[in-house]
Formats: sequence, C-alpha cells, structure tokens
Amino acid sequence: MESRSTRLKHYGRAFHSRSRIREKDRTGAVLEDFKKTLSFPTATCSLQDLARKGADLADEQVVLYGYLGTRRDASKSLTFAELHDAGLKYTIQLVSTPVKGVDGSDSPHQKLRALETHTPVAIDGTVISRKAPKASDASEGSRNIITSVEIKVENLIPLNAFPKDIIMLQDTVFPPEQRHLQLRNDQGLRDTLDFRSKAARLVRDELCGKQDFIEIETPLLFKSTPEGAREFLVPTREPGLAYALPQSPQQYKQILMASGIPRYMQIAKCFRDEDLRADRQPEFTQIDMEMAFASGEDVMGTIETVIRRLWADCLAIDDLPEDFSRMTYQEAMSKYGSDKPDLRFGAELRRIEYMLPVDLIHKIGPLSDPAVEVMKFSGFNEPQATRKFVSAFMDSPEAQPFVQNPDGQPGIFVYDVRAPLQGLQVFGFEAAEQLEEMLDLDNGGLVVIQARKNVPFAGGSTPIGKLRLAMQKFAEKEEYLPRRTGFNFTWITDFPLFSPFDDAEPGQGGSAGISSTHHPFTAPKTPEDVDLLLTDPLAVKADHYDLVVNGVELGGGSRRIHNAQMQELIMREVLKMSDERMKDFAHLLEVLRAGCPPHAGIALGFDRLIAVMLGKESVRDVIAFPKSGKGEDLLVKSPTKMTEEQMKTYHLKLRD
Ligand code: ASP
Repeated sequence: MESRSTRLKHYGRAFHSRSRIREKDRTGAVLEDFKKTLSFPTATCSLQDLARKGADLADEQVVLYGYLGTRRDASKSLTFAELHDAGLKYTIQLVSTPVKGVDGSDSPHQKLRALETHTPVAIDGTVISRKAPKASDASEGSRNIITSVEIKVENLIPLNAFPKDIIMLQDTVFPPEQRHLQLRNDQGLRDTLDFRSKAARLVRDELCGKQDFIEIETPLLFKSTPEGAREFLVPTREPGLAYALPQSPQQYKQILMASGIPRYMQIAKCFRDEDLRADRQPEFTQIDMEMAFASGEDVMGTIETVIRRLWADCLAIDDLPEDFSRMTYQEAMSKYGSDKPDLRFGAELRRIEYMLPVDLIHKIGPLSDPAVEVMKFSGFNEPQATRKFVSAFMDSPEAQPFVQNPDGQPGIFVYDVRAPLQGLQVFGFEAAEQLEEMLDLDNGGLVVIQARKNVPFAGGSTPIGKLRLAMQKFAEKEEYLPRRTGFNFTWITDFPLFSPFDDAEPGQGGSAGISSTHHPFTAPKTPEDVDLLLTDPLAVKADHYDLVVNGVELGGGSRRIHNAQMQELIMREVLKMSDERMKDFAHLLEVLRAGCPPHAGIALGFDRLIAVMLGKESVRDVIAFPKSGKGEDLLVKSPTKMTEEQMKTYHLKLRD
C-alpha cells in the first residue's frame, strides 16, 4: 500500500504535470491568438465615411476597425452592439445573428457576445439602411452616432481582448497611474491634444511658411552653464563627465545667429530642475525663436502676428488689437503689484502713505516708514453683503498668507454711506475725504490697504498684488463679482537687467550679490543704461519684454548682447563671475567674436499658451504625460532608482 507521503508525492507530480499542460495550453493559445491578429483585414471604410455617406453605402460589404461599445443581447439569436471608431468620435450600431453553418465559440455571433466592451476589433459586415431613431439619439456626449445605417456582422476579429478587471464607464476618472485609460475615456483630453497639435502646426506655418523662419533642432545633450535655472545632468561613461539638458535653446540659437541663420524657430523641449509647486513641469515645451539684424520691436511684432493667427484660427477670435498694449515693469508693479498683471479687472493700486495720520501708520504694522498702497474693488455696492464677503474671505485658507504678512495685515474697509465717515473713520476726516475722491467711492466699493517696505521693486509681485488677485478670484468663486472673461494681452518692458541675488535661484554664481533678471545674455536698453553698468547695476534697465495675458506670463525675450567684449564685461566686471564660471561660456564668447550680428528673440511657454487658450487651470491638463508635483511620471513610475550596475557604468557613488 502506498504511504500517505508517496500518495501526496504522486498527487503533487500529477498536479504539477497537469499545471504544466495547462501552462503549455495557455502558451499555445497566446501564440495562436496573436497569430490571428497579425493578419487582420484592411479597413475598407471609416466610420466617418459611413456618417457622411450613410444610406449611399447600403448593401456594401465593408471592413471596419474600432472598439466595441455597449452590447444588448435582445434574444439568443439577436445582438446589438456599438462600434466606436479608432478615434472614439463616431459610433455605429452592429447587428449580429448566428451565421448559418458556423457554430460554437468560433461563430462571430458568439464571439461578439463573449467580448468585453472596449475590445478593439475588426468587423466584416454589410451596410444596412436603417430608419433613423429620434434626433435626440444622434449624439452622445461628444460622440457622433451614425443613425442612417447599421452593420450586419458577418465576421469579427478580436484584436486584443479588454480585460474584465478594468472598469471603464463613461464618467470614470482614472488616477495619473492610469493616464492611458484617462486619455482613452476622456474625449476632452484627447481634443486638447488635438488642439495642441493644430496650434503647433499653425505656429510653424506662420513662422516658417509665411515669415521665412527655419525650424532647427538644437541638441538636448548640452553642457552645464550658469544661465540661470537649475539643470538636470546626464552623466556619461567617461569618469566625471556629464552633459546637461538645456534649460532652453538660448545659447544654441544665439550661435545660429552668428552662423548666418537669419530667422530661427523651434518648438523645443526644455528642462529645469526647479520648484514644481507653481504648476511647473521639469520638462516643458517652448515656442522658441530668434531673429538676426533685429531688435526687440521686430520680435514683439512677429509674436503679435503669431498670437493673432492662433486666436483667429483656433479660437475664432479675430478682434485682438493690432498692437498689444505695453507697460513698464515699474508701472506694472506700482499699479498692480505684479509683473504679470491681470488687466481684466481694475483695483489699481495707489500710494497713500503721504495722506495717512502717523498713528494710523503705526497701527498698520511694524514698519516705521512704509509704503502704503490702496486699491478699490468696484461692484461691491451693498454694504451688508460686502461685509459678509470680507469675513468669508478673511476666514478662508486663501487669505491666510496675507493675514500672516510680517509687514502687517491688510486693512479692509466697506464703504457705507450710513456709517460714520462712510466706514473710513480710521483714516480721519481729511484722509477719508481724499480717499473718497481719489477712489471715486460715491457708488460704493471695497477699500483695501496694505503696507510694505519702502524699497525699490524687485521680483515678480508684492503682497498687495497677490491679494488683489486672491480677492478677485474669491469674489468670483463666491459669486459676488462676475467672472473675468476675454483675453487681455500686454507687454511688460524695461525690467531691471539685474536683481539682488536670491538664494532660491542658482543665478550665475557671480560674487557681486546680483544675478541676471532674465539671463546673462540680455542687453541693457539704452546708452544711459550702458553707462550705469559699472556704477549702479541694479538701476540698469534691460531690453527685455514679457508677454502677459490675463495674469499669466506667456513668455519672455530680449535683445541680446551680440558683442563678445561687452558680454565678457558683463559677466566678469558686473556679475563678477569667477574665471572658472567664465570658462563655461567660452564657446559663446568665441562665437560672438566672429562678427555676430545684432539679434533678439523670445520664447513662449507652449504648454501654458495652450492652457490659457483653452481656459485650463493647470498645464497638466494640456500635456499627454505630465509629471506630478514631485516630478514623477506615475504611469511609467519614473524616476527610478539607479542599479549598482548603472552606477558603476557612470562611475557614480551615493553619498551616505
Ligand atoms: N531662453 C529664454 C527663456 O527660456 C527666452 C529668450 O530669451 O528667448 O526664458
């Protein structure tokens, strides 16, 4: 008699050989299934053709591709199913009945009934005229439903069965880890990519087709130079050597200007290893361009043409102004507290410290000699509702950065004819009267004041500038004010050429305590600015222009320093870069030295441009595979840990 353990051993062996057979069967089935998909028939007609020609194609034999949609088994021998085209834009009805002589699981009828929705298939069938259902059935979301004909299924080849464990309903939203499913399920997202592609085509057509630019690809394996942003390094197998990914094609495009290319453009990938919180991506796309024998005026004019073309052809908006408005950096900062002001609403800032009683200045905050600015929001005509808005705003998370401003909280006053001194009694009689007149308060309004250090403007915004936007946004969200609409473009010009060094940015590594506001290749604006370079560099204005729309900086550019000696002087004498850092730019100086013509250029952020055109909140909504706030691609799961092997190859070692 077999012992228990021998019996178990036999069972075990039998089990193993059975599972080996099953494994073999499965492998065989995988191979056979795949073979069938290798030679799937060529489509003879698209769903778009069927939508267009409808009953004219009745009785034709067609082969169609697409994805199966919902199915209804009306009876054992009658099934209806939807077929969506490859672009998921059109839907046609499939009708299936058993085909005589073909039985079992091989029968197209049974196959159709066994397949999951979303499975890609090739369908062989006959076009049948059909009585159109009610008009309301003719579209479903953004999909066009073909109603004049249907397809009688004669053969069906599943091309890759959709698995049961993925549940994809019409309104399922997938996480970034399943971006492919989100793309497949979200027509809006696919339309955005389509829009983006069309916009890129138009830009190329406008610049290269109409304005004699040539598109030139510049290298992605570049070198590390202190241009301004933090770079990504790409180590090589040569010990200690690395490329850097370009933060922009800036240096190559200037080299092209010295190389006899009069007009360059590129829709370029750029890489910056920077703070990702502010809706930035570590890799992003720019419409980059440069023009030789040209000034900033030429560049701005060209960009305006491109923008007008995009708005007209992609958005059917053809009333953008012939010339975009302009504002200097000083004006933008003093009127709006921002170098990218949203001009779709007023609330302009004015300085008022000169009219305020001293004791009020002390109450405003800890600064003894502050600049105090005031702004008025129109549209708040009902004091009671306005007070409600003010407390809701001040209690909101949006207001907290302003409440915690170390230079003092904002002062917010509701103009109210029934209140003492119309609600402005804190200001005292005289100042209240002056304010009423200055701000034209007769029709009511919300008055906000804020103190700041009385120093020249630097950087992109002041707290009151941010508050202006935050209050407007909150008031719109809570429906106190109507939503801002339209597009309001403006050029911001005359930026300071240098800014006080800011720890958050790598800058150029010079020892002068300043860094280039834009990049170290930007030219001073006027001869007077050139004169100030060595004596008062922070007072020098740059020939630098940013294009701003609706509070968003679309991009910026400048006239460049085209002369090697001048470029060297700025780097060595003004920024006080070390010899070592200067060496990083030796190539550029050598190129400029070779009779480089004057040139100017610009780059527009393409992702941001598309987001603005489509009114999307985030650039992630207009990028096929965006990175997360931590710079990860959650679908492919990058970045990944380097293996020992890779580290060895690149001569790298992790520090403890
Ligand atoms: N390279 C610059 C940037 O990326 C744009 C320019 O000056 O053309 O911001």
